[in-house]
Amino acid sequence: MTLKPARSIDRNDAPFWSGNPDAEAFAKIQEQRLSNAQRALDRLLSVTGTRSIENTLKPYDEILIYLDSASSQSSLIEQVHPETAVRSTAEQLTQKISAFATDISLNRSVYDALIALEGMSSDSTIVHYLRKTLRDFRLAGVDKDEPTRTKIKVLRDELVSIGQEFSRNIREDKRTVTARDIKELDGLPSDFVARHDPNPDGTITLSIEHPDAMPVLSYAKSDDLRKRMYLEFNTRAYPKNLAVLDTLIAKRHELATLLGFKSWADCATADKMVGSGKNASDFIEKIANASAAKGLQDYNMLLERKRKDAPLTERIVAWEAGYWSEIVRKSEFGFDAQSVRPYFPFGRVKQGVLDVTSKLFGVEFRKLDQAPVWHASVECYEMFKDDVLCGRFYLDMHPRENKYNHAAEFAVRSGIAGRQIPEAALICNFPGGLEGDPGLMEHSDVVTLFHEFGHLLHHLLGGQQQWIGISGIQTEWDFVEAPSQMLEEWAWDPATLATFAKHHQTNESIPAVLVEKMRKAAEFGKGLQVRTQMSYARLSLSCHDRDPREVNTEVLTKSIYERYRPFKFVDGTHFQCSFGHLTDYSAVYYTYMWSLVIAKDFFGQFDRAQLLSDQTARRYRDSVLVPGGSKPASQLVRDFLGRDFTFEAWQSWLSESY
Ligand SMILES: [Zn+2]
Repeated sequence: MTLKPARSIDRNDAPFWSGNPDAEAFAKIQEQRLSNAQRALDRLLSVTGTRSIENTLKPYDEILIYLDSASSQSSLIEQVHPETAVRSTAEQLTQKISAFATDISLNRSVYDALIALEGMSSDSTIVHYLRKTLRDFRLAGVDKDEPTRTKIKVLRDELVSIGQEFSRNIREDKRTVTARDIKELDGLPSDFVARHDPNPDGTITLSIEHPDAMPVLSYAKSDDLRKRMYLEFNTRAYPKNLAVLDTLIAKRHELATLLGFKSWADCATADKMVGSGKNASDFIEKIANASAAKGLQDYNMLLERKRKDAPLTERIVAWEAGYWSEIVRKSEFGFDAQSVRPYFPFGRVKQGVLDVTSKLFGVEFRKLDQAPVWHASVECYEMFKDDVLCGRFYLDMHPRENKYNHAAEFAVRSGIAGRQIPEAALICNFPGGLEGDPGLMEHSDVVTLFHEFGHLLHHLLGGQQQWIGISGIQTEWDFVEAPSQMLEEWAWDPATLATFAKHHQTNESIPAVLVEKMRKAAEFGKGLQVRTQMSYARLSLSCHDRDPREVNTEVLTKSIYERYRPFKFVDGTHFQCSFGHLTDYSAVYYTYMWSLVIAKDFFGQFDRAQLLSDQTARRYRDSVLVPGGSKPASQLVRDFLGRDFTFEAWQSWLSESY
């Protein structure tokens, strides 16, 4: 890593929220960035002589420097700021900044200027940056004639609003399920029952949102209640989204054709590691085949367990899967997820993640007290290497009103060596944060924190580039989940857990035998989960890899379900209508699993007996994280592994026995 001394920090190294701007001041900062970007654009276009890296790529990257901060910070603030006025100002700014970026991507003069640089530099980083940039321009359609570009623009706008309509129909479907009486909630946790007051006639209304649907499908003893929930849950946004989805698929195909591709699947994979729709399809099949036996083994375990209670059982049906899985975990593996929570109070887990990663990657985290933050509960840390400041991040960890309600890493500013240090934020909704509340986490929360911290470190460690367009996580989409999924491994390591997972009252370390039980229980169900993921990946691809006139989503959904899952398809359900990822992932839902295969191969390089002291982590840092987006991901993989990735490590992860 090349790092610059802390004493020469320029003003771009200040925390981004310095001065605690109100809505007006925040807008002013972003408007200033947009006009700086415009000035850099003017400079790029005003060149009359020979094009050079200095007079063309430099100002182009300068445009991106301003757009990067502007769009990252607006996108973050619109999700987290406690004041409505600031959030809505940020939302408007996001739209404006994204319109500016779209205009650049269709600006033929900028494209021509950059094309003129081809072959001009032998610096491999510049060659990669230029190749990637020109490809992105072409995927945007900049090299098409004027009428085609006009059509492309219209189609892109239409696709945005059709996608919004698809999501809105899912979000706004407020159907409910009625439990006949309190007895029908038998098996559900007491806090769930307490949250649902009975109606005057004794019935109980349940929503089909996750907080209601998932506990019912996992814990309700009433088979009929689970069945009703399953039917409603898998009928969300039906029939409305049937037609919306058809339009979405047809318009995407039309756009792909205008851009010179045979299908949207080919278009959407052109900038990914996988490279083509055909390769994505082969990948899905390979994973599905590899997980077939394990999926069947899991299914048979469910069946055998149910037969102990009901000997005449012939099969497990879809709405029974979650329920019997929970029973198997408890009765066959003796593991109750609730039993580990006392060892995971939020404060210790957070400190544990900081200590573990600091040791692994040779960096130091120092809390920056009194840092400017958007809410009093947000903590700010600075990252140092050899006493030199090289990154900063914000932890916004607990729920509050009007805040983003999942867990994610947000970029705040990408780093450039010698000019600005990278900043990032983790926005999560973990337990705790209130006076007197230890914030006992589920183990799955602990895994999530490691996962998101993996993204954060990738962004910060990769933020020492010469160019912003290749800084941090700006790598292929199907690679981006590899570092995050790999860091999850430490959340399963008994020695790592023993360093921070201590009982919130007794301070006793989590017993190794409990961790062992937890790991064993997690082996069960992997096969079914992988097959489920591949059914989603196949549906996402199949909707987009052929002529839309041949796509009947009802037929596809049913046939894919029965091909990959051991349960009979439930007629009358229409899962595709509420498959929200068909908007943001479109054809490429395979990406998580692709990244996981790489992550498992990476992890195979580590010595599991001494995960905390293994020097492999330093080599991994320098060959995969530090380069950020400065090389193709396939090259990063080769740099670390000494070869292309293979499926062996993933396969042995899958085949670990119960
Ligand atoms: Zn992730």
